[in-house]
Amino acid sequence: MNYTIEGYNALVERLLELSVAYYDNDAPLVSDFEYDRMNNELKAMEAAHPEWVRPDSPTQHVGGHVSEAFAPVEHPVPLESLQDVFSFEEVTAFVEKMDASVDAPHDYVAEPKIDGLSVAVEYRGGVLYRGATRGNGAVGEDVTENLRTIRSLPKKLKNAPERIIVRGEVYMSHDTFRTINARNEVEGLPLLANPRNAAAGSLRQKDPAVCAQRMLDIICFNIQLAEGVTYKDHYETLEAMAAMGLPVVAHTLCRTPKDCGDAITAIGEGRENYPFDIDGAVIKLNDLAQRQVLGSTAKYPRWAVAYKYPPEKKPSRVVDILIQVGRTGVLTPKAVIEPIRLAGTTVTNATLHNQDFIENLGVNVGDTVLVQKAGEIIPEVLEVVKKDSEGCFRFPETCPVCGAPVVRDEDGAAIRCTGAECPAQRLRNIVHFASKDAMDIDGLGPAVVEALDKAGLIRTPAELYYLDGQSVAAVERMGKRSAENLIANLEESKGRGLARLLCAFGIRQVGAKAAKVLARHFATLDELMAATEEQLTAVDDVGAVTAKYITEWFASEQSQHQIRLLRQAGVSFESREEIADDRFAGKTFVLTGTLERFTRSEAEAIIERFGGKASGSVSKKTSYVLAGAAPGSKLTKAQSLGVPILTEEDFAKLIEE
Ligand code: NAD
Repeated sequence: MNYTIEGYNALVERLLELSVAYYDNDAPLVSDFEYDRMNNELKAMEAAHPEWVRPDSPTQHVGGHVSEAFAPVEHPVPLESLQDVFSFEEVTAFVEKMDASVDAPHDYVAEPKIDGLSVAVEYRGGVLYRGATRGNGAVGEDVTENLRTIRSLPKKLKNAPERIIVRGEVYMSHDTFRTINARNEVEGLPLLANPRNAAAGSLRQKDPAVCAQRMLDIICFNIQLAEGVTYKDHYETLEAMAAMGLPVVAHTLCRTPKDCGDAITAIGEGRENYPFDIDGAVIKLNDLAQRQVLGSTAKYPRWAVAYKYPPEKKPSRVVDILIQVGRTGVLTPKAVIEPIRLAGTTVTNATLHNQDFIENLGVNVGDTVLVQKAGEIIPEVLEVVKKDSEGCFRFPETCPVCGAPVVRDEDGAAIRCTGAECPAQRLRNIVHFASKDAMDIDGLGPAVVEALDKAGLIRTPAELYYLDGQSVAAVERMGKRSAENLIANLEESKGRGLARLLCAFGIRQVGAKAAKVLARHFATLDELMAATEEQLTAVDDVGAVTAKYITEWFASEQSQHQIRLLRQAGVSFESREEIADDRFAGKTFVLTGTLERFTRSEAEAIIERFGGKASGSVSKKTSYVLAGAAPGSKLTKAQSLGVPILTEEDFAKLIEE
């Protein structure tokens, strides 16, 4: 393989960015499958070029930082990660290597690998004393009060050693995950992405009462430290934990590579029976003295491996093909399939992407297809495995929701509804208008929008500002309190300013970023509306196509009507992003660590207000790195590239001058 150092550095940066999203913010940007794929590529690069290996590479340390929001807890015995393998050959190679490296006899223990959040829990005198997250492996975050809310974690142990630290995985059960998401959907709150991140996000809540509502669970899989007691092997420690009253991971004793393979297969086949997600099976050397001999690398023990199951694929019959109409009018086909369990969830439909994809597969209703949930979190159809129908599915010529003709985009595979009043687009437009990046109206998720629409109270986003509390309270599932809150949130949103309003309009190609650029250029909506296509293209980052979409959007009678209603309701058309002066023009800032005086978004807004840019990763072109407490790898990178580093005080001086 021809690798380049630039490619290597870019991959390290990307993986670090993904790790922060996953471990620190509990909000993954890509699926685990995709992350593992990139991580393996990094390992291959480092094997080919050991001289490139950076100390901050994700292969060199346990992921995750310690947030300042919690008191630090030093782990007397580190909480290590695990080495991944993806095939039975690698498991066999691991077992053979173990057998060759330490004295016989060799036993192994196979356990399911629970996909949750690792914690260490300490008991003193048999009483729950303290609990901490894994953090960076050496130091974790004190989450004792949150752990106390976990019902499956005993607060007292039976016949425990005077001091014992156990390691376990905190998880959110499938049932709890479904219950919370069903509730969030009704209340218009954001949905939890998956049980693992929901568990991590809940355990790292500042308020234990919030954590308690998330109904977390725990399973223990290791004794980290037990004063005054010596155990011979891992199996014995698991049995001892169970005898003390702790919930313990299922465990199978294995002797040969074949036993290990069989145990992995059995765990994989039974994964649907666990109340939690598993993301693999762990094979561990049983004898504790032999483990001592083998020791650990900087990141994981040499005596264990985690086998990761390949993405599951299963056949199912297509019972229907539905066409959904998105906010911008794009028609998306999805196959409704006979329900199957896939990677821990019940799947009843899978995407078919677009007309070209359907034609390539030659798929139609009645066929049996192979479905996978892998790189994408959304299941997709992979291929037709049994053809029981005639021909392939054809897109309708009219929109299935409003009946208006559909047209294919000149530039691609997308097929779009031309109906200006299409109800499907209408509802999604309102949801978008209220979303976080747009007018940020709390309590106005899809379920509430649908209920308001069903009650005939709104047809357009602007009509939201004409809702009255009494009518809203009468809407199904709303009630007086939610209605009052919604009206108050709507009132508050009137002052969000031009950038958010522009984003909320949902003009093609004008997302949050472009909207900010435009709002910085034009002081008011009226100025922007008066701009010609040429004037718009003169704005940084606005191309000819976007300029055309903008002028077309404002020219439509419907948009003009919206604007009249918004103006009358008192929604602000003013840009709040006026540049006080452009002292940061052409300068790029990267933020790292925790700031005390500002939130991250406040600091970014200040930088942008003075004409600068905030970026996510450090490069030679970065003008400054603004470093708060407990800065991450970006600081090291900045130091190695000689990028000037600002403390919070330096930054404050720069903006106060
Ligand atoms: P890991 O999660 O793969 O393995 C180590 C962890 O397994 C331990 O911390 C332990 O808590 C847990 N575990 C569960 N059951 C266990 C058992 N029976 N015995 C021992 N340990 C058990 O390693 P990692 O380094 O923490 O994280 C890598 C994982 O995180 C990968 O699966 C990766 O895909 C995912 N990740 C995803 C993203 C993303 O953006 N999607 C980003 C970073 C990491």
